[in-house]
Amino acid sequence: MHTVCPSLTRREYILVTRIQVKWNVVTAKKDHIGICSTVQEQEIVHETDLGYHAASIQIPFSMERDFMIQPVLACLDLEGVLIPEIWINVAEKTGIADLRLTTRDVPDYGALMKRRLGILDQHKLGLPDIQSVIGAMRPLDGAAEFLGWLRERCQVIIVSDTFSEFALPLMRQLAYPAIFCNRLEVDATGRIVNYHLRQPDQKRASVLALKSLQFRVLATGDAYNDTSMLGAADAGVFFRPPDAVAKQFPQFPVVQTYEGLKEQFCKAGPLER
Ligand SMILES: [Mg+2]
Repeated sequence: MHTVCPSLTRREYILVTRIQVKWNVVTAKKDHIGICSTVQEQEIVHETDLGYHAASIQIPFSMERDFMIQPVLACLDLEGVLIPEIWINVAEKTGIADLRLTTRDVPDYGALMKRRLGILDQHKLGLPDIQSVIGAMRPLDGAAEFLGWLRERCQVIIVSDTFSEFALPLMRQLAYPAIFCNRLEVDATGRIVNYHLRQPDQKRASVLALKSLQFRVLATGDAYNDTSMLGAADAGVFFRPPDAVAKQFPQFPVVQTYEGLKEQFCKAGPLER
């Protein structure tokens, strides 16, 4: 597989047959490096002999500015990707069917949350009730292994529309990855009075901010509220989306397993398998 690596200081790109990147050290594993003047020319690149014919090339620190490739960072949705849907679990435990609706069903997150808080009030359920359901939840099968695999290969941030108050017990089970999410406002009786989004469309905003820091951003999610994040990323992949969502956004590849996600990320990063 050919990989094009953008240079930070010149409008030149090194082309190698395979690379490994760890902590900004680029190791070329095959036997040639070519240079092309623009990314667009990659198809017709002139393979320039730079004298690098060793099986492995370590780019020294002093050359890093010229040859450093963009570090890869992965943004992962939480519910439906690493853990089960919290609200579906709450619906099952409480027997309140109306709480089953999630971002997989409703595109308008504000309307969905308003509805949820109304239902909780109606049934006199507060934060401790929901936390006791969450306390019994476990990550999806294979999620912890997948996350460990990914964190060995690139930086990972979970970007979720859930709330810190919900996420904490599950983060413990996933070895506390970095997570960006929202906050609940709870009164002294435990009633959830309101919720506060850190910013509108934080998933997309996070990806754009990380790209502005020169990361190459991969992203995955399963629902409507992930689509702007997937679109903003350098590579966006659906993980087990509902059919209706996948059909509406055919531009994103769909995977059903963590193996499939590893494959997509390895290809798009590139990341070492
Ligand atoms: Mg989700």
